[in-house]
Amino acid sequence: MTITTENKTVTHILGYPRVGSQRELKFAQEKYWRGEIEQNELKEVGSLLRHRHWGDQVGAGLDYVSVGDFAWYDHVLNTSMLLGHIPKRHDNGFPDLDTLFRIARGKAPTGCSCAASDMTKWFNTNYHYIVPEFTEDDQFNVSWQQLFEEVAEAKKAGHKVKPVLLGPVSYLWLGKEKEEGFDRLSLLPRLLAAYQQILSKLEALGVEWVQIDEPVLALELPKPWAESFKLAYQVLNGNTKLLLTTYFDNITHHLDKIVELNIDGLHVDLSAAPEQLNAVVDALPENWVLSAGVVNGRNVWRADLSHVLDVLQPVKAKLGQRLWVGSSCSLLHSPIDLDLETDLSPEVRQWLSFAKQKCREISLVAQALDGNDIAIQECAKYSAPIKARATSALVNNPDVRQRTNAITAALAKRKAPYAERTRQQRAALNLPLLPTTTIGSFPQTNEIRTQRRDFKAGYLTEADYNTALKGHIADAIQRQEDLDLDVFVHGEAERNDMVEYFAELLEGFAVTRFGWVQSYGSRCVKPAVIVSDIYRAKPMTIEWTTYAQSLTDKLVKGMLTGPVTILGWTFPREDLSREGIANQIALALRDEVSDLQAAGIKIIQIDEPAIREGLPLKESQWQAYLDWAVNAFKISAASAEPQTQIHTHMCYSEFNHIIKSVAALDADVITIETSRSDMELLKAFEEFDYPNEIGPGVYDIHSPNIPSIEQIVHLVEKAETLIPIERLWINPDCGLKTRNWEETEAALRSMVEATKKLREQW
Ligand code: GLN
Ligand code: ZN
Repeated sequence: MTITTENKTVTHILGYPRVGSQRELKFAQEKYWRGEIEQNELKEVGSLLRHRHWGDQVGAGLDYVSVGDFAWYDHVLNTSMLLGHIPKRHDNGFPDLDTLFRIARGKAPTGCSCAASDMTKWFNTNYHYIVPEFTEDDQFNVSWQQLFEEVAEAKKAGHKVKPVLLGPVSYLWLGKEKEEGFDRLSLLPRLLAAYQQILSKLEALGVEWVQIDEPVLALELPKPWAESFKLAYQVLNGNTKLLLTTYFDNITHHLDKIVELNIDGLHVDLSAAPEQLNAVVDALPENWVLSAGVVNGRNVWRADLSHVLDVLQPVKAKLGQRLWVGSSCSLLHSPIDLDLETDLSPEVRQWLSFAKQKCREISLVAQALDGNDIAIQECAKYSAPIKARATSALVNNPDVRQRTNAITAALAKRKAPYAERTRQQRAALNLPLLPTTTIGSFPQTNEIRTQRRDFKAGYLTEADYNTALKGHIADAIQRQEDLDLDVFVHGEAERNDMVEYFAELLEGFAVTRFGWVQSYGSRCVKPAVIVSDIYRAKPMTIEWTTYAQSLTDKLVKGMLTGPVTILGWTFPREDLSREGIANQIALALRDEVSDLQAAGIKIIQIDEPAIREGLPLKESQWQAYLDWAVNAFKISAASAEPQTQIHTHMCYSEFNHIIKSVAALDADVITIETSRSDMELLKAFEEFDYPNEIGPGVYDIHSPNIPSIEQIVHLVEKAETLIPIERLWINPDCGLKTRNWEETEAALRSMVEATKKLREQW
């Protein structure tokens, strides 16, 4: 096949990170919220970032720039604004930027304060969106002009524009009904009328292609939802061409319905689900384009472009100009610029690629597909390091492999069943009825943060930093004594973040300087990267924990982050299964558990707040995931002797679908978040006859409000109707690191007082 300009491969990405390589958007948003800058200054920062990011796309050689991927908070909230779909309590008739902030945060520099909308995770990512609220009489009126202004802005800058819209079915799916007895899917016809208006406005602006995201197609949808696509895309047929984009998983289970739709092209995620390619190519209607999402938007690895070429060459031969090449999903989930990572070792650096580099990968592979010899050679050269990584001595550690290969079912089993363990623990620990404890962290004061920053910057010696940390630990112990809590913690003053702390101490991880990705609103996280086989070269928590224990006669809980959470909140390697990685981490933690125990620590908590969010998108795959996740946790805990008490913590409370697996963790004590649900969500544990001990959170740590003794007594009395009292613990919902000491001590004082009152009753 000869390549002419007519059958040139088209390139694009599904979206770019919006926050800026120096987190400019975050800092501007927060300044605006604090009243330090005017709205037009904030808007200028947004415009500057958009221009820079379009420039990155054009500079890399992409054919289209994505427009509409920018957001002041998240892109689902953008869609609500675009549709004029504003919760009634926030609607003052003229939605503007402050309306958006009020919906997201409950307040903004102008307008009244009322409750923010709920926020939840975007599929199985760590990015969050504001949940659309639906009522039966909802109207949709295109009003907010941001999208159209951005399209005009990009056109004016001379770019070829491809607007991005969240599709109508996904928009409805992602929201929830605010009233009983109606089904939000019934709003679809009304919603479609608004989408039609949007599309004709875009058409009037000279747009040729619109990217319309329907990520829910990766889910196993209920029948009415799966069938609603037909109506949706019958109505939305105008003169702009529609590229229907799917991502995060395979969509072949809906393929027969998709190919019937009235659209012009389909995008599939070939990073998450490469196996779907042939089925999709075979089923592709004659006049459609196929956008092949080959560059992973959710991870940080350099693409193996030679491999991509091998995969796509036959597709190119078949489809010619109907083949597009793009990112698997939006690059929103990847850090921005690898060039800023001057501290990474050169060997690791050459294996990585962030958003800016990923754009270049897409463009390069397209040129190679089009037969450009230089590009073909470049692809081979570019891919050489990542290919060589497969056999790198840095990555593959025979000792670790030997140990994981030797994992048996017995390794995940405690030495005695719960009934026997609890008998031994009661004798060994001698705790009162309703033991009181906290979840691990105490306030991360400015002093602690400054000391850490100074230590990292070299202004504070390691010895001085350690002395300072010991001071914070001693302070925390003294306060717990004064409060008369039963089981103490050391307070986690040494930890910046519950995952990064362990990533820095374990072998196998790389930590970046600027690898920020948006989590919600202005909040960003900087996940570590799992680059190689993981092991523990030295103990990680023993010194702090034993120091804390040396200061008190009360028991101090050792505090670890569990294998599934460490895996879930990092960028994983892709040449080993998630289960394989989790097992490596589990073995490293298992050694830490043994060492804590040998050092005299009698209670050890292994936090697993990320187990539930790691659930695969397709429900049919949940159990397989839960089985290996539970097993990894158990491997880490099972070196504990029967009289050593293992706790775990999960900061949510919707356990309905996973209660069986939570019970299978076989932790001696689990602490969960329940205060805001008035203990309702303990019912899942009651119905399941959950056998071990539970600490349902008795107050909400997210709020600065101090709980009263009566409130706590009420909650525990309610909990007692669901769980036998001798199996209940008393603790807050989660760690206290975001609170100050004044709030913390006042709240814990109420908690201890309430507990003492309750003990008198029983
Ligand atoms: N031990 C951790 C803390 O108290 C747990 C945090 C979490 O569950 N997210 O901060
Ligand atoms: Zn928590």
